[in-house]
Amino acid sequence: MNYDILIVGAGPGGIFSAYELSQNDPSLKIAVFDAGHELSRRHCPIDGKRIKTCINCPSCSIMNGFGGAGAFSDGKYNITNDFGGTLYHYIGRDTALELMHYVDGINMENGGAGTQMYSTAGTSLKRKCMQNGLQLLDASVRHLGTDINYVVLQNLYDRLKDRVEFHFDTRITFLDMDGDNYRIHAGDEAWTGKQCIISVGRSGSKWLERVCHDLDIATKSNRVDLGVRVELPAEIFSGITDELYEGKIVYRTRKFEDPVRTFCMNPRGIVVNENTNGIITVNGHSFEDESRKTANTNFALLVSKHFSDPFKDSNGYGESIARLSNMLGGGVIVQRFGDLERGRRTNPKRLEECTTRPTLNATPGDLSLVLPKRILDGIIEMIYALDKIAPGTANDDTLLYGVEVKFYNMEVALDEHLETSHKGLYVIGDGSGVTHSLSHASASGVYVARRILGLS
Ligand SMILES: Cc1cc2nc3c(=O)[nH]c(=O)nc-3n(C[C@H](O)[C@H](O)[C@H](O)COP(=O)(O)OP(=O)(O)OC[C@H]3O[C@@H](n4cnc5c(N)ncnc54)[C@H](O)[C@@H]3O)c2cc1C
Repeated sequence: MNYDILIVGAGPGGIFSAYELSQNDPSLKIAVFDAGHELSRRHCPIDGKRIKTCINCPSCSIMNGFGGAGAFSDGKYNITNDFGGTLYHYIGRDTALELMHYVDGINMENGGAGTQMYSTAGTSLKRKCMQNGLQLLDASVRHLGTDINYVVLQNLYDRLKDRVEFHFDTRITFLDMDGDNYRIHAGDEAWTGKQCIISVGRSGSKWLERVCHDLDIATKSNRVDLGVRVELPAEIFSGITDELYEGKIVYRTRKFEDPVRTFCMNPRGIVVNENTNGIITVNGHSFEDESRKTANTNFALLVSKHFSDPFKDSNGYGESIARLSNMLGGGVIVQRFGDLERGRRTNPKRLEECTTRPTLNATPGDLSLVLPKRILDGIIEMIYALDKIAPGTANDDTLLYGVEVKFYNMEVALDEHLETSHKGLYVIGDGSGVTHSLSHASASGVYVARRILGLS
């Protein structure tokens, strides 16, 4: 089983590598491997009734399979170098933006046409933020929504499946070299390719760590982002979300000068559980479909922590804090902002009387028992800063869910072509530690494909 190119991972990075390669050179023999199912077979068994919590399926349908971790995401496609990864460090700002626009165009051709593109350019909000100690980051945001995102992925799969060989439910366990070629293994089977693109995302981080160790590829630790998801009546944030859909806003705390940022805004959306390796954290979604919209907007407030020496395990630190919240709340904890400020727990009665109706069934509790003081102080300061541009944010009945954790992969040592020290072995997408978003991961896939095709 010899191929020109092996691609490990069918998330956005792997998909757009396969797309660009097969589009430009149909003669190439390409195989894509993913530990999860094809899109139509991806169903999380948690239904809230019969199955309430994670039952640890052999492959998690939320994180694994065609479409990768973003398959059921809100599909916010951010075209910017200001956040979502540091791809521009490797390939330059202009190329990174050009490739993100290129992928957006492909998404539009494949079912995304008609979805809205928002932009921070020329908004009055930017000035208002500056006047209140906040910084609004520049971006164009295509909002596909969970429903259209799925349609786009299905169309891309239909286009690719006759040109590229897909191997689903195939977890690659081992990668080694066979002369100048790369050989990947799953169980008793093995496949050989002249070049290999690894795009295993967050869920493949442990495996990739081993590959780097075995092949002597240098890595360094990355940061972890910790915080809460805020939920409030949609009207309070409509001044921001109506114009921008998502505003990425950064605040530097007065007390510690720590940056706190908003992340993943979901106007009229829902708060959801997220399961990362058995640890339950919080996230958010929203839908394009009017009938699925709610009365609330949610977004995360996150503080970054980066450890170096002697403790290097930033992700381990984040996991421990998430585990603590799971221990106290049996999952995600929810607290009214007014209760947090008064130093008391939100109990079921206080939650029942709360005017903001929660969209996630979380355990009422006390986040101050979970989050380190410095992080919590930063979040509280930011809520008051946001209250100045969106009055009502600091209301007693604003809900805080915890904890939200964004884990990042270790950074793999790569050159400007995203190639490792081994010729023909590329690492792209979130697995590389270079990207943290749909747009950057997809762009990295196109970039490496063009390099292999000799087009860049
Ligand atoms: C709930 C949620 C919502 C999100 N919302 C957004 C959003 O709105 N906007 C945004 O920009 N980003 C969002 N993200 C982040 C975004 O999904 C990721 O940045 C993006 O999917 C990264 O793409 P990737 O191809 O690098 O990796 P992934 O999408 O993680 O894909 C990696 C694939 O590799 C496979 N794999 C892993 N290990 C192996 C192995 N050993 N063998 C075979 N296959 C393997 C996995 O099964 C997976 O399918 C969200 C993430 C989540 C979890």
